[in-house]
Amino acid sequence: MKTLKLLNYARDSWVAGEGSLAEIRSAVSGDVVAQTGSAGVDFKAMLDHARRVGGPALRKLTFHERAWMLKDVANAIMARKEELYELSFETGATRSDGWIDIEGGAGTLFSFSSKGRRELPNQRVLIDGQMEMLSKGGTFVGQHVFTPLQGVAVHINAFNFPVWGMLEKLGPTLLAGVPAIVKPASSTAYLAEAAFRIMIEAGVLPDGALQFIAGSTGDLLDHLTLQDVVSFTGSAATAMKLQSHPVIAKESVRFVAERDSLNASILGPDAGPGTPEFDLFVKEVAREMTVKAGQKCTAIRRAMAPAEYIDAVEQALAERLASVRIGDPREEGVQMGALASREQLASVREAIAELARSARIVAGDPDISPVAGNGAFISPILLRSDNPWNAPAIHDVEAFGPVSTIMPYRDLDDAIALANRGMGSLALSLFTFDPEAAERFVLGSGAYHGRMLILDRTSARESTGHGSPLPVLVHGGPGRAGGGEEMGGIRGVTHYMQRTALQGSPDMLAAIVKQWLPGAAKQEGEVHPFRKRIAELDIGYTLKTAGRQVNLEDIERFARFTGDNFYAHMDEEAARANPIFDGRVAHGYLILSFAAGLFVDPAPGPVLANYGLENLRFQTPVYPGDTIRVELTVKSMSVRNAEMGEVRWAVFVFNQKGEVVASYDLLTMNEP
Ligand code: NAP
Repeated sequence: MKTLKLLNYARDSWVAGEGSLAEIRSAVSGDVVAQTGSAGVDFKAMLDHARRVGGPALRKLTFHERAWMLKDVANAIMARKEELYELSFETGATRSDGWIDIEGGAGTLFSFSSKGRRELPNQRVLIDGQMEMLSKGGTFVGQHVFTPLQGVAVHINAFNFPVWGMLEKLGPTLLAGVPAIVKPASSTAYLAEAAFRIMIEAGVLPDGALQFIAGSTGDLLDHLTLQDVVSFTGSAATAMKLQSHPVIAKESVRFVAERDSLNASILGPDAGPGTPEFDLFVKEVAREMTVKAGQKCTAIRRAMAPAEYIDAVEQALAERLASVRIGDPREEGVQMGALASREQLASVREAIAELARSARIVAGDPDISPVAGNGAFISPILLRSDNPWNAPAIHDVEAFGPVSTIMPYRDLDDAIALANRGMGSLALSLFTFDPEAAERFVLGSGAYHGRMLILDRTSARESTGHGSPLPVLVHGGPGRAGGGEEMGGIRGVTHYMQRTALQGSPDMLAAIVKQWLPGAAKQEGEVHPFRKRIAELDIGYTLKTAGRQVNLEDIERFARFTGDNFYAHMDEEAARANPIFDGRVAHGYLILSFAAGLFVDPAPGPVLANYGLENLRFQTPVYPGDTIRVELTVKSMSVRNAEMGEVRWAVFVFNQKGEVVASYDLLTMNEP
């Protein structure tokens, strides 16, 4: 392979680093595959460019426009994925390891794109939670909102997933409307650069939205401000160094850290040999050790089993690991490739030596390379500690390779304490079919772990496994794991935004958030709102219906028709005995049906379908003889595509005294 010269992407141009460049070697052959360097790059100018050009351009777009952009970028990566697989082999990754990185990365962007379009408004301000009533008269209210930070997201990434690690951060960042500067880890930067290049060449991102550093970050951190975010993935030592940078401390720069993690997996007390959970546990521990040669932040480093089953676990695991085929990741049938570099191999061997001082190696030999040549190959190494409370290294030293330690526990409390001894982890898995044990574990251990997988025979077939961070679930963990959170659906987007509590009148706040708020003005018009397309509707446009009396015969007919003969509707004496009612009341569903009968305009038109109700509350009972009427108000609108969009209607049903008897959001699909 020809040696690649990696370039920086600064101020919308590709620039080479000056002076002597660092060499990056193939994990498989040991040959030089790339040269990298960022000397001479003006980091302050990069930050200024992102702030002056990229940020404003991104903030001009709505969440939906940014979400479509993510989809285009993900499609561009998928269209050129084979170029990336080719480079991925050089990092030691097999095709299936590469799939997690490349297609998993694109999948993460697709997921953020689709969530952005379904769960975020087609606006620039994001509402957070319900309006808060701050005054008796209702003229002064509060509403939390999120707006994008006006700085730069600096992404400093680890070497293990050069594509996914970059995209899982870029998805939420760009969706939030914040430009980013990506600094990949040097040892696999050639793969990150290739993926980055594809994103730029897709031509869908505004100028200044993305920049790339192929080498050291120079004086970049010296120029950060309160509007910037550093999202770091890597070792605890580097995280601590960066986090204590004086500018980061002084400016309160947001610092999201994903660091080391001594993830645990626990075989439940009920899951002895012969149970499906036992087999699942063995399979998962072996899988986590060997996928990506164990270079996964979430890989199982500590596997715990009841003392009486530990021998069986050791035997089953050793057998499974012995059959793993290690070799050139390009070769058919190879299950485990190499570590990312010879340096990584040296550091894994060093960590194993430390672990081996308090645990014994029961499978594999760290000093014998399973593949001849200059590659960074190592066989899976299983250690065993029979006295885990006297072996601090197994809870503190992370060998970032195919390395795991098995250990026995006495009872569930002991297992919980051992799991928590990792001092904070990204992921824990528990293999049990006993919900009581699982509940005890979650209560005893939840505070120490960012994600918990409880695996049993029911979920095993469809489970995504112990080690897969998912775009819709929070990725991160407390303590040693860095205390950060990434992804987690829309939560991940808000990490790049500022939450502000707005106070003011309902009308004022509604105008800002582009959503009708309780107490804001309602406008009525000649035309029924169901006769208007989305483009013709205004927020606050309201239909006030005529009244309709609800009588006993309606209630009885509804009961007969639906079969809902609940005593509160049908038995006067029993209803009176109920502490809530003063006699028979109308069914809540009857009120909803009558409400629809009052506000619906029946002829074919721009309303295509009713697709749900949200936040439904029955607030006041409706008694025979009461008269109800409805106010239907356009709360918010969001166009999905050329054919349709969603209209959210605030519906209030009143009785003759003006009391609200029911309130809810009605969702309809309308022509745009
Ligand atoms: P690392 O040495 O800490 O490097 C991480 C990143 O920081 C790299 O991009 C590195 O760039 C950069 N860096 C190092 N020193 C820097 C400095 N002074 N200023 C700015 N940037 C600096 O970690 P690693 O060896 O690449 O990664 C392995 C570790 O990452 C493992 O311990 C693993 O637990 C952790 N990890 C955690 C997660 C997670 O999600 N929690 C995921 C993956 C890995 P260079 O490569 O150019 O030095």
